[in-house]
Amino acid sequence: MYQKMKGTYDILPKDIDKWLRLEKTIRTVSKIYNYKEIRTPIFENSELFHRGVGSETDIVSKETYDFLDRGKRSNTLRPEGTAGVVRSYIENKLYASNASIQKLYYMGPMFRYERPQKGRYRQFLQFGVEAFGSNSPQLDAEVISYAVNILKALKIKDVEVHINSIGDVESKATYKEALLNYLAPNINNLCTDCQKRYTTNPLRILDCKIDKDSEILQNAPKPLDYLNNESQSHFTETVAYLDAMKINYKINKNLVRGLDYYTHTVFEVNANIDTLGAQNTICGGGRYNNLVKSLGGPDIPGIGFAFGLERLMFALESLSFKGDPDYLHLYLMILGDEQKADGMAILNRCRLGGLFADIDFLDKGMKAKWKQAAKLNTRFVAIYGANEKENDVINVKDQETGKEITIDKHQLYNHIVEELMKPSAACESCKEDNCDECGE
Ligand SMILES: [Zn+2]
Repeated sequence: MYQKMKGTYDILPKDIDKWLRLEKTIRTVSKIYNYKEIRTPIFENSELFHRGVGSETDIVSKETYDFLDRGKRSNTLRPEGTAGVVRSYIENKLYASNASIQKLYYMGPMFRYERPQKGRYRQFLQFGVEAFGSNSPQLDAEVISYAVNILKALKIKDVEVHINSIGDVESKATYKEALLNYLAPNINNLCTDCQKRYTTNPLRILDCKIDKDSEILQNAPKPLDYLNNESQSHFTETVAYLDAMKINYKINKNLVRGLDYYTHTVFEVNANIDTLGAQNTICGGGRYNNLVKSLGGPDIPGIGFAFGLERLMFALESLSFKGDPDYLHLYLMILGDEQKADGMAILNRCRLGGLFADIDFLDKGMKAKWKQAAKLNTRFVAIYGANEKENDVINVKDQETGKEITIDKHQLYNHIVEELMKPSAACESCKEDNCDECGE
């Protein structure tokens, strides 16, 4: 017997509805924000990730799935979504379209060879957003509010944004010098990776998982204290918009994104989730004004964020998040082989009209058919046997009201639609008709 590969998982039919609901919520909020979906390939040229994510990051140096194809080209399964989206943005010249700003989102599987743990998989689902073409702090604020409002739409509580600024290229250079001077006498007390980073990319020392909480890093100079005027006003404006939108945020001076192309705003969205223990960061993002250029495109600013959907689903499960209730409009019972062709025609007519409908494919007895109809949470059960065929009628029972009638068999679809349009009883919890939220 084969088993799934380590770090992967199946989504079984019993769980699919909550995943669809999660995806639907994300797409709805995306529509509200006027972001359009982009779908890029699962694998790209390995070089793209070396340049777009950074060769010295753990993601690229230790965690990618790389393979040579039969033409000896080096391919990498995408470990994140941004590099592919930027590649596509440049290759398809999306910057040249009439809309000078492109607001994009993606949702799909990513691959990282990591040690699997709760909520972390080697194939994982990621949702991310990339907005290109504006350096306005209004866009920073929009993107942050977008991430927050998705979590709010999912009813996640205690959502808090951590925000910082690392400034523009000039501010980053000034800061880098101050950091190097500060770290010089202390560098041997940091981990070996950090000692390497000291020469390759010192900003990344600040987000070292090993040394993050050490006194040396806690007391290190902060990027926020080295912003030039322009960078300072970008940050001041961004948080002013967050204030105006009543978004709960905290300035976190230690927050950085170590890669060269990041500029200005960096942020994380946190939530208080018991089941995830200490790992309560749900989303990370930032402005990357130099990324498009560094991947060979024009000098166009961008900002984005991403989050993993598995950890989000963990959080939602602790809030008893459920999918839309499973149900059928119609369960058709066809009795006798001679009635099967007619039955299939009736079924097809109802499905063409959009009714959720099914039949018994195992020729079970009547008792088992009724049991199956109940199990499938069916509103209408229709019976079509020899008697019905002879008289051109069909027998229909409304499982909700118990009402049973015999009608012209060509009228089945119309009958069900009419009955479905009648208002149902008010929801017990909110007193509204046809309530989606509490309608179980
Ligand atoms: Zn370190």
